[in-house]
Amino acid sequence: MNILVTGGAGYIGSHTCVALLEAGHTVMVADNLCNSQAETLERVKQITGREITFYQIDVTDEAATNTVFASQSIDGVIHFAGLKAVGESVAKPLVYYYNNLVSTMVLAKACQKYGVKRFVFSSSATVYGENQVPFVESMPLLPSTNPYGESKAISERMLTDIAKANPDWSVALLRYFNPVGAHASGLIGEVPTGIPNNIMPYITQVAKGKLDKLRVFGNDYPTVDGTGVRDYIHVLDLAEGHVTALDKLTKGVHVYNLGTGHGISVLQLVKAFEEANDLHLPYEITARRPGDIAECYADASKAKRDWGWTAKRDLVDMCRDAWRFESVSKEPSP
Ligand code: NAD
Ligand code: UDP
Repeated sequence: MNILVTGGAGYIGSHTCVALLEAGHTVMVADNLCNSQAETLERVKQITGREITFYQIDVTDEAATNTVFASQSIDGVIHFAGLKAVGESVAKPLVYYYNNLVSTMVLAKACQKYGVKRFVFSSSATVYGENQVPFVESMPLLPSTNPYGESKAISERMLTDIAKANPDWSVALLRYFNPVGAHASGLIGEVPTGIPNNIMPYITQVAKGKLDKLRVFGNDYPTVDGTGVRDYIHVLDLAEGHVTALDKLTKGVHVYNLGTGHGISVLQLVKAFEEANDLHLPYEITARRPGDIAECYADASKAKRDWGWTAKRDLVDMCRDAWRFESVSKEPSP
């Protein structure tokens, strides 16, 4: 299939481009590079030995987006392009709502205009809010405490309504848990700007000596050891989930969790990282981070049952691959 990947130069998008190309799909990327580098796409080509057509455009720009649809024969869209920093979304709600909602509307409109009927959307486990773990797709969505999470929930609702009104559309709303790790080549991985918000890039930067120690946000949660529990999933497993979604997607709107189904605490992650990479990771316990929930992990059975998809890589792979990218690779520069 000919797939348009928005946000394809980003962290999850670039790994998904690799998985799509390796599965034999043709890939076009639309990305404005607001949080990524064009060099990453060169590395995707290097890994796969395949070409990518790249459009440096903002997908909130309707005219520019329509130009891509007019010039290409597109079988499906995977829409990764979005802003994702939770804290920043609280400070700049309009920027987040505008980018994340308008991009989805512009793309859906272009799909309607040019007869593209497959749409895969990057949602997030954050839409479950403080539901009881494990999170199941059928749970009612709870209001998020931040505009980022709201933008995902609203996009899901918009796409659900659009799919209902267009019964020949096939829409997948994929709720990601916590993607970590990198491609085994060390050529592509997560490249956060500034001090990382997410734990894995923070850990790798501590291990590298760029940061002094990890701050563990709270050890008084009702969890196995008091620290926050998350469902970490290797980014390549997540990427392969998108290829499966494209293959298996049927008409209508379908919601799937992409997680492992296993909850890992912060201290368990620290220990796993130390053991996988044979190094010591300094940390201190600090106060809880506002807005964090105690536990977030998937019921991952639906994707397995319907699509035969499960995450194959374990925590050791995630820790090794994340560290390889930080320690031996040269980060792409703008
Ligand atoms: P990322 O920032 O690495 O990638 C997003 C890409 O989209 C970047 O390359 C950026 O330049 C591009 N982009 C943003 N707005 C754009 C626009 N208007 N037009 C064109 N390009 C634009 O983020 P990621 O971690 O790869 O996340 C991809 C998607 O998955 C996002 O929608 C994010 O909200 C969602 N998601 C991420 C996580 C996570 O933990 N990384 C978890 C759940 C959901
Ligand atoms: N976390 C932490 N120190 C950090 C970053 C994160 O202790 O520097 C914890 C955080 O409280 C949560 C887990 O690690 O329990 C995952 O946080 P992350 O920001 O990576 O993902 P999210 O909060 O989106 O699940």
